[in-house]
Amino acid sequence: MDHNQNYLLELLQHNNNEIESLRPFAEDNHVPIVDKLTLELIKQLIRMHKTTYILEIGTAIGYSAMHFASVSPDIEVTTIERDETMQQRAKRNISAFNYDQQIRQIHGDALEVMDQVADRTYDMIFIDAAKAQSQKFFERYTPYLREGGLVITDNVLYHDFVANIDAVKSRNKRQMAKKINAYNKWLMEQSQYATTFLNMDDGVAISIKGASV
Ligand code: SAM
Repeated sequence: MDHNQNYLLELLQHNNNEIESLRPFAEDNHVPIVDKLTLELIKQLIRMHKTTYILEIGTAIGYSAMHFASVSPDIEVTTIERDETMQQRAKRNISAFNYDQQIRQIHGDALEVMDQVADRTYDMIFIDAAKAQSQKFFERYTPYLREGGLVITDNVLYHDFVANIDAVKSRNKRQMAKKINAYNKWLMEQSQYATTFLNMDDGVAISIKGASV
């Protein structure tokens, strides 16, 4: 971690809310959750973009969903998770922190449960599930994104591997990096979206629907 990142993380400490108590649990139990600076960026986009309805693909233990909901009591998050243990943990956390009214959990594979989220139009979609499937999630769920809405994709630099695929020793990681690279290039080709990438944490893509490109 570089000095600037450390400095910013320390600076943001005062912003900590009770949901942060889940971060040590996630780290100890190897549950991947969104990095802190990326999270703060998304929360700022939520504030800037008058976001009410958020769709998240990949709930894990409910950490990011509750953080998003914490921005304003008007926010409603729909979040999809396929792993049963995670679903139960998220349910307990969401109840314990009193976010039941703002967070709707959908249990199932995000490649299959589109019908269950199709009752509304979303202002933001956060793609944070199986990294090799990001394009499929994008294609399946952006029909429910409003014009001007945002798609945020996490981990688009995948541990620095994507920018340096030939140096990756593990075959699995190389395959994953290639898939993410293909997704990033595909994102850039989507003429109805303006996409930019941030070299922050594990890499974030921000795509705006309908922005002239
Ligand atoms: N967004 C969470 C946070 O920051 O607190 C972290 C999500 S974690 C990186 C990814 C989660 O996506 C895992 O819990 C995994 O089980 C789930 N997942 C992966 N592929 C999925 C799929 N096809 N459908 C639903 N959930 C999926």
